[in-house]
Amino acid sequence: MSTTPDATQRNKGKNRVAYIYTTVTCLSLAVFGVLHIALEGNQLLGILELLDAFAVLLILVGMRVAKNIRFQSHLLLLCILTIMFVLLITGGTANTGIFWFFMFPVSAFFLTGGKGGMAWTLALFALVAAVTALQHFGILHTPYPFIALRQLFVSLLVITIGVYAYQRSRDDMALATRQSQQASVEEKLKAETIIENIDEGVIALNAAGEVILANRVAENMLGWRPGELTGKKFTATVPMVDDAGNEIPLKQRPMYQALTHGVPNHITAMYVRKDGGKLPSFITSRAIVVDNKVHGAIETFRDITQEQAIDRAKSEFVTLASHQLRTPISAIAWVSELLLHGDAGTLKPEQADYIQQIYHSNKRMAALVDAMLTTSSLELGSLQVRPQPVDLPDLSRQVLEQQLDTLPADKIIHVKENYAPDLGTVLHDQYMIKTILHNLIANALKYTPSKGTVTVTIKRSSQRLEGVPQKAILIQVADTGMGIPEGQQSKIFTKLFRADNIKHKDTDGTGLGLYIVKTIANYVGGSIRFESEENKGSTFSVWLPATMNARGDAGITESTEKQRGDT
Ligand code: ADP
Repeated sequence: MSTTPDATQRNKGKNRVAYIYTTVTCLSLAVFGVLHIALEGNQLLGILELLDAFAVLLILVGMRVAKNIRFQSHLLLLCILTIMFVLLITGGTANTGIFWFFMFPVSAFFLTGGKGGMAWTLALFALVAAVTALQHFGILHTPYPFIALRQLFVSLLVITIGVYAYQRSRDDMALATRQSQQASVEEKLKAETIIENIDEGVIALNAAGEVILANRVAENMLGWRPGELTGKKFTATVPMVDDAGNEIPLKQRPMYQALTHGVPNHITAMYVRKDGGKLPSFITSRAIVVDNKVHGAIETFRDITQEQAIDRAKSEFVTLASHQLRTPISAIAWVSELLLHGDAGTLKPEQADYIQQIYHSNKRMAALVDAMLTTSSLELGSLQVRPQPVDLPDLSRQVLEQQLDTLPADKIIHVKENYAPDLGTVLHDQYMIKTILHNLIANALKYTPSKGTVTVTIKRSSQRLEGVPQKAILIQVADTGMGIPEGQQSKIFTKLFRADNIKHKDTDGTGLGLYIVKTIANYVGGSIRFESEENKGSTFSVWLPATMNARGDAGITESTEKQRGDT
């Protein structure tokens, strides 16, 4: 049977006390033996005590060699019982010898446990009773009167009951402790087995953000040796980066959000392995909340390399399909415009109305196809950065004008424009900046009710932000509109996401605009943040590097080229 480390430790302690006890017994017997011979002239008792001391010495040696005190303990008690018998019939108890009688029950219970202690104490009773009876019937003569033996008997009884009660309660407590330890060991093993056999990486953090558990899959995937992550601050030890390789700020990491706000979160990002490699992962974090207090968080993640390969194939398909769709869409737009201009003869009002509907639906379809094409180009990394001098205020005014033209006649929006005078022209990709402005301004106008205000600010940023070059340009679009519900803000940059508060009011959206803005910002090494309160408004801020270099030379596709001119 295997023993737990705790049990081994307990046994060691018990053995040590038994050695000390046996040594003290041996020495006392030897000293008493010498004293009885030398000072009292009680030769018989003295010699017997010395013999007993020798026997106890042998027992002590036996204990040390065998390292098992059980058998030797019984031998020791037998020796002590023998000496007590001698003490009784020779009158040795008159002096210090009485000590052995009162120590015996304590020693017996301690050395041999509840049952053994009881057996040995009964043996002592039997001995005292036998000597009393033999004396009573005149068979044996001890130096004690009957009353003294009776007192000894009663004293022994009281001590025995006391020691027995104490021993029982200790045994019960020890049993209860062992049982609860056993139960918690089993629980731990069960939990560990489950966690170890999950096919995803599992990391558990305490409230301070330190790793308290990482399963083997997690350690393998992150490239750490077993147990190496334990105790380390997870977010500081294992960096997380986005597709462009920019480090994801601490506050946006799902673990941080779970620990500080207690809300479940998920994200698709890349973990940086110990060897510097990147692990594309789908990461979910959840807080451990007890009594409304966050005690830690659990993160699960899986490798999505394969899924990304499939996504890539899908993006390629979408690029191809969108590109093919552009030709018939352009043809429909062109022909509807001809019809509306009366090139094929004057239309009846009803006919003009139908053609108008075809024209607008086709325009929406064109916008959707454009968004799909931009999305897939960004995902494939085939959108080339083409730096050119850009007048940002001018570009922003153009976009605003275009967008305000599309507003219904009864919708009045106050527009404020703040362009820093020191902006000048910047070397940037005009198409990308226009796409960002277009999506942010379109959203602000779309999700702000009539009489609201939209403010567009463009300036050089004074802040130095993580992952953003020092001289960043800040594009900020603020509105006093419907805002984004707090519980849905973490999903705002997810592809095809549309918040619940606008879904039924605006059916036109694609859910791709913000995804595109964020992807472009990351693509060029910038970043995006937003603040929003439902029914109060939203502010989207995009930081971009002030100057762009052409990025790579590969993959400017025909579709991307065509698409550029159109937006
Ligand atoms: P959509 O085509 O639906 O506008 P976006 O990706 O541009 O797609 O935006 C995603 C969602 O984010 C929107 O459906 C809306 O719920 C929310 N949203 C974006 N901008 C704003 C804003 N300025 N005010 C309120 N909600 C916004």
